Amino acid sequence: MTVEAPSRTWSQRHLLDVDGLSRAKIERILDLAVEMREARASREYRSLLETETVGLAFYEPSTRTRVSFELAAKALGATTVDLHLAGSSVLKGESLVDTLRTLERTGVTMLVLRHGAAGAPHLAVRTTGMHVLNAGDGTHAHPTQALLDALTLRDALGSLDGRTVAIVGDVAHSRVARSNLHALRTLGALVRVAGPTPWVNEFDGWPDVEVAPSLAEALDGADAVMTLRVQTERATKDAVSLDDYVRDWRLDDSRMSLANPEAFILHPGPTNEGVELTAALANGPRTLIGRQVENGVPVRMAVMALLTGAA
Ligand code: ASP
Repeated sequence: MTVEAPSRTWSQRHLLDVDGLSRAKIERILDLAVEMREARASREYRSLLETETVGLAFYEPSTRTRVSFELAAKALGATTVDLHLAGSSVLKGESLVDTLRTLERTGVTMLVLRHGAAGAPHLAVRTTGMHVLNAGDGTHAHPTQALLDALTLRDALGSLDGRTVAIVGDVAHSRVARSNLHALRTLGALVRVAGPTPWVNEFDGWPDVEVAPSLAEALDGADAVMTLRVQTERATKDAVSLDDYVRDWRLDDSRMSLANPEAFILHPGPTNEGVELTAALANGPRTLIGRQVENGVPVRMAVMALLTGAA
């Protein structure tokens, strides 16, 4: 494996996915996030983005991602503006491009975009001059989620090199899983995916990815298990019944005993209580779910600072 020097220069103006980021760049983001996490209370970074106006355009529901992007922008001194879709011209039929151009003309310099269509952030890059951060596009990518997951795992495990991470559930419809597959492998982990066949078979043959035929084989010796929300809004043709899912794939105490006894549990949220995992596991001693949420703000601060050249 080539070991790159830590990257001190930053060339990207946008964050559309993690697949374009080298290991050195991912580590630069995570290291800066740790610095920012430690210094956040001291408001040391308060003026870094004071000339930026961050527009939050969420065309799909969100709690964690939207709130943490807003808090991250504010912690860096940026002005924020939230495009409240329910009261915006989108309801009058305005196209995505027209809305984005309007945001830019009103003074937005950095766009945080969540959209149901894969590629919407790429369209924003082509049609406007704003910095663009992908906050989740269709089933394609959710790069800041993967980065905060990587930071959470690095905090817990020390390093991802040689570690095994199992991703369980609705992998096919999960932009979180797709971005995590890139980030975790780039950081040296082996990734196992497991779930009902229509939700995992497309990953067969991916380098450094194993498709495990059963939950037992996915968990065997795993250092961490990431279970995913069953995306009932996306899984249409290949719908798997929730009862079948719970029977075969839900994480519970006895199934977790197949993993490394020290294995950590992650979930990007929101969880369907009792479907992807039991409440006892979600709130138990091995859970990192709360740490994932806490890492959302510093990771997004780091990304925003790097994209603008402020850090
Ligand atoms: N919050 C994550 C996303 O927006 C995961 C999920 O919704 O299941 O993709």
